[in-house]
Amino acid sequence: MAAGQEEGVAVETEAPVEEPRSFKDLGVTDVLCEACDQLGWKVPTKIQVEAIPVALQGRDVIGLAETGSGKTGAFALPILQALLETPQRLFALVLTPTRELAFQISEQFEALGSSIGVQSTVIVGGIDTMSQSLALAKKPHVIIATPGRLVDHLENTKGFNLRALKFLVMDEADRILNMDFETEVDKILKVIPRDRKTFLFSATMTKKVQKLQRAALKNPVKCAVSSKYQTVEKLQQYYIFIPSKFKDSYLVYILNELAGNSFMIFCSTCNNTQRTALLLRNLGFTAIPLHGQMSQNKRLGSLNKFKAKARSILLATDVASRGLDIPHVDVVINFDIPTHSKDYIHRVGRTARAGRSGKSITFVTQYDVELFQRIEHLIGKKLPAFPMQEEEVMMLTERVAEAQRIARMELREQGEKKRSRNDNDDDTEEAIGVRNKVAGGKKKKRKAF
Ligand code: AMP
Repeated sequence: MAAGQEEGVAVETEAPVEEPRSFKDLGVTDVLCEACDQLGWKVPTKIQVEAIPVALQGRDVIGLAETGSGKTGAFALPILQALLETPQRLFALVLTPTRELAFQISEQFEALGSSIGVQSTVIVGGIDTMSQSLALAKKPHVIIATPGRLVDHLENTKGFNLRALKFLVMDEADRILNMDFETEVDKILKVIPRDRKTFLFSATMTKKVQKLQRAALKNPVKCAVSSKYQTVEKLQQYYIFIPSKFKDSYLVYILNELAGNSFMIFCSTCNNTQRTALLLRNLGFTAIPLHGQMSQNKRLGSLNKFKAKARSILLATDVASRGLDIPHVDVVINFDIPTHSKDYIHRVGRTARAGRSGKSITFVTQYDVELFQRIEHLIGKKLPAFPMQEEEVMMLTERVAEAQRIARMELREQGEKKRSRNDNDDDTEEAIGVRNKVAGGKKKKRKAF
């Protein structure tokens, strides 16, 4: 530890962010520079310019940056470079809050590390534990995990430990802690070596993150990039004030008006996400839902279709979408106004990224005025109204009403199918076996299953 510096106290990087240089200038080795080039990463992003050189010097790093800033590259490249210098199994662990993020990070490790033969494994919930145990037994170089499932393996998988770990990354630390993974993170910190490098990335510096920083990092360098400036400049934010009962018609009007763009539409509930997706599909739009009641495979499938541009409209809830790497969103529509003003910033942050321009349109009904005022207060400005031809909207209402009716029916059918599938799921041999055993003794208890 450098003299005069307390353990756990962040030192800000001195120089302001300079013009992007090449990865080579940052100290990245040739083979990894080639990998970046192959991914189409011509110049490093701001967070990469700030974080990579200090990480390569062997310092702990706190990165204040959001998904979309290139932060994965900022921690993956120094780890891969260190791995090249001293090859070792179970070398690095990346903790991340959600399964989707874990897969995205793993994709980037694979892409950057394929030419040097790096093996990585994703350890997340919702996936068979046995196959994960087998993958861990092969001792990959890098593990990307959500905290809960990793702790599960640390406690129950024979022969698996992280006692030789060299790098720990805590990605989206604010969200990890907000999702109540604090206990799991503590458990993990206790079983990995103290003598390691740690990178902590977070969109916000909350009290909990500061506490974690003090507990887990040594003499770190703080690298902060603000994407807000860019967002304000390139993002055109609008609102529309409309009666609640015509929301669907206004949505269809806007989608027609702005046809040819990619859209992300935010709804407040899983049910409304599903319903609106069905409604739009009935009207011929390529819409796809993403929400927490979908299975993991379906969520990844939705996201991939949207990413591959096979679908132009993604409907999502805040929870399902936060932190996802969703490229090329031209327009964000707040179909249901966010109840927490901060979610507004997360949502509109999905567009106007990396220097591109983008639009956001917030639907404000008679019930949302107060929430909308709070948003304007938070962002510190009054938004203009999105220009509309009311008569044209009203001409849509009949077709929309028919599509609503069909969507309601489809939603009901989906619900029934799901319920009957769940009943059938319980009719696996195992479940029936258990049921029979119980029923053999006390027939009345059967209902409990
Ligand atoms: P991240 O913030 O790490 O989730 O990255 C967001 C997106 O930016 C990913 O699709 C990366 O592949 C991409 N990306 C990361 N670094 C660069 C770079 N230097 N140039 C262009 N794209 C990049």
